[in-house]
Amino acid sequence: MNEIRMPERDIARFESIVGSEAMDRIGGLASSVLTRLDGRSVWNVNSTAAGGGVAEMLQSLLPYARGAGIDARWMVMRANDDFFAVTKRLHHALHGSAGDGSPLGDKAHEIYDTVTRENAAAYASQVREGDVVILHDPQTAGLAPYLIDKGALVIWRCHIGKDTVDDEVTRGWRFLSHYLEDVPAFVFTRESYVPDYCDHGKSSIITPSIDAFSPKNQSMSDEQFRAILVNTGILRGVKNEAAATFVREDGSQGSVAMRARIVREGRVPSAETPLVVQVSRWDPLKDPIGVMRGFVRMLDLGDESGSVLMLVGPDASAVADDPEGARVYREVVETRAALPPHVRCRIQLVSLPMTDVQENGAVVNAIQRQASVVVQKSLMEGFGLTVTEAMWKGRPVVASPVGGILDQIDHGRNGLLLQDAHDLDGLAEKLASLVANPRLGSWLGENARRRVGNEFLGIQHLAKYGGLIGQLIEERERAGNPRRFTAADRGLDATTGHPSLAPPAAPFAV
Ligand code: UDP
Repeated sequence: MNEIRMPERDIARFESIVGSEAMDRIGGLASSVLTRLDGRSVWNVNSTAAGGGVAEMLQSLLPYARGAGIDARWMVMRANDDFFAVTKRLHHALHGSAGDGSPLGDKAHEIYDTVTRENAAAYASQVREGDVVILHDPQTAGLAPYLIDKGALVIWRCHIGKDTVDDEVTRGWRFLSHYLEDVPAFVFTRESYVPDYCDHGKSSIITPSIDAFSPKNQSMSDEQFRAILVNTGILRGVKNEAAATFVREDGSQGSVAMRARIVREGRVPSAETPLVVQVSRWDPLKDPIGVMRGFVRMLDLGDESGSVLMLVGPDASAVADDPEGARVYREVVETRAALPPHVRCRIQLVSLPMTDVQENGAVVNAIQRQASVVVQKSLMEGFGLTVTEAMWKGRPVVASPVGGILDQIDHGRNGLLLQDAHDLDGLAEKLASLVANPRLGSWLGENARRRVGNEFLGIQHLAKYGGLIGQLIEERERAGNPRRFTAADRGLDATTGHPSLAPPAAPFAV
């Protein structure tokens, strides 16, 4: 296990966003959690220090928890390729897919158990009785029994899931349940991801958040984001290098010098050109070709705005470990090339270099801010970060009614949902109405920004964790501080997980 040292950051910077009343409430919660923790640590354990949503989330949240006085720590497991092959298989199973089709039987348990045992041996001596340990995703589930034995208060958080159960999902849970039996609390992203066996009061829902101060989501003036887009070659205009800047994670100033690789014909759009934008990896589940077809139908309705569709994604040639990305990108290029010239010249494919992730984030930020409409036409989605990112920038979003997007957008209030993920006519019609009616877009966008500011930022994420940890410590104390704090101690029946019935009161004193 490796520890990633985290800096401290003052949570007070959220005051400008959420206001002083909310800050007072959160300050009160933080101090009650601190008292309850009484000097104990809150550990997070996952399996990678960089890359992937969990690492990004820990990087952005833990410094604030530390700034609030909590000894929040981050440990990363050490594992080998065989272990990751098993956990990748588990990851696929929880999404309902067979992955490489391997059986998840005894051999897989053996590989998994060896690595988790070694990691537990290296780590358990650092964990004190009463420490809170938040284990993230299937890779860490095998650590739970060892840590519970040490007297730690274990929370297992699963960031993945599927809305409906099938054989693969069941297979995945069967593998994991073995390790999770005594875990007193679970966290899931969506209600429908909670598997039957850890339903019944043991589970909490905590949605992912975005970092409002990261290069991808920090505020930018119009001059700034336009200068960034001109510098990258996405918009035409006079170069203004001095304004093409952003604030890096360490507080230093960054400047955007990268050039986007763009497939386009005809004129470079100006700042006045209405842009319809989808930002995503080149992945079939993000359905970039469907977005293109919906946009073409919008043009068929007789668009007079001169709007342009931009499909934006990471430079597929740069992502060596994603051969699928390169294939999907090629398909998108070919589908576009087969369109008639007058349609083709309204569709641009934008690939952004990933060499500097923060600079890439600043360009994504600028594109989302410049967009008249942001689309997320996913065929499946856990929690669409790009949806929250665009909503936070006050942009109207048109999205498929799938997965977590249903928890993010209230149709007609803070965004628009399609009838279903294949609703091309609905997409065309909604794009047309938003491009023609910017006031509708601004109204939806304002509501969208408010929704994110109230629910999906780091500060609310921390508050939800704080509430859960406070409650668990209280329940544990009520149960008389047992070394192994289990579901039964939470007043839950150990076998069914249902709240236990209180024993009938004796009719008379005995
Ligand atoms: N993203 C990025 N650069 C790109 C394309 C995408 O930084 O060129 C980011 C995007 O802003 C979002 C993340 O990748 O933060 C994708 O997250 P999402 O939940 O939307 O989809 P996922 O890729 O996790 O399925």
